[in-house]
Amino acid sequence: MAHHVSIQACIEQLDVEIGFRATDPDAYVTFGALFDPAIKDYHKIPMNADIRHPSPSFGSVDDLDIKDLDPDGKYVISTRVRVGRNLDGFPFQSLLSDDERAKVETRLKNTFGQLQLVKEYDGEYHSLETMTEAEEKNLIETHLLFNHSNSASRSAGVYRNWPMNRGIYINKTKTFLVWISETDHTRIISMQPGGRIDQVYSRLVEGVRIIEKQLRFAHSDRLGYITFCPTNLGTTLRASVHIKIPKLAANKEVLGKLCDDYNLQVRGIDGDGTGIFGDTFDISNKRRMGLTEIQAVVEMAAGVKAIINEEENL
Ligand code: ADP
Ligand code: MG
Repeated sequence: MAHHVSIQACIEQLDVEIGFRATDPDAYVTFGALFDPAIKDYHKIPMNADIRHPSPSFGSVDDLDIKDLDPDGKYVISTRVRVGRNLDGFPFQSLLSDDERAKVETRLKNTFGQLQLVKEYDGEYHSLETMTEAEEKNLIETHLLFNHSNSASRSAGVYRNWPMNRGIYINKTKTFLVWISETDHTRIISMQPGGRIDQVYSRLVEGVRIIEKQLRFAHSDRLGYITFCPTNLGTTLRASVHIKIPKLAANKEVLGKLCDDYNLQVRGIDGDGTGIFGDTFDISNKRRMGLTEIQAVVEMAAGVKAIINEEENL
């Protein structure tokens, strides 16, 4: 396997938090001197400590002391948890050939039969190649589907040969999704309206199990699951809410301080790289490495609770 690193986004997009991407799992070893400090900085691992991610541990919903992030339904519009995975033995998007991308799609599509056997996960694959523009627009606007307008991804070569061999599996209730070849080979996603993080998380975990039984994904003892972008290494887990908090929106310093204290990240509601404005935000756990999957969800839930408390007190 080639050992490369894509630094194109560093050169072309000076505002991205980390502009380099791994072109294959080995890049993190070969270019450790470049990646390690950035990984430590992003995931809040002390600079003088070794990187060592814990073994995967999804825990159970009983480990969640907060089961509903917003029991009164006043602030949280929707809750989502995703993980990223890449097939063992294939390079990442920057180096993936068109033939390899086709193989990645076939292997992932072959896992959907097992999902279709379980009522909650039963659904259909929608290829980007055959989707109408109107369908695509609707899926993007309802926050189910990825777009291809992220400038860092474009610079790193993610959009080569778009839309070939990309697509999305959607269950019947639109609460469980599998993306194929957005940035990572796959993203597995659970989402629903409201704040029931317990339901969202347990649906994700069971769905991941069904898929992981059928495929081998790139993983190392040191880095956990290996991803294209160093910000996603480890658990690869991002648990987010879309949350409407007008008082904190007018007090950005207070919001910023809460996010720092609780290891949270704010994004715009149309996803990474879109504008952050108005009084509704995407708020999620920031770090994904150095803690377990269940701990990442607990961290996000505690942070969202603190944000709601502050909003009520302002
Ligand atoms: P990720 O990297 O986790 O996939 P992005 O920031 O790239 O997230 O956003 C992908 C899509 O997911 C966007 O359409 C975004 O609006 C949507 N999204 C993220 N979190 C939520 C949420 N809690 N509720 C609804 N949609 C969400
Ligand atoms: Mg993203």
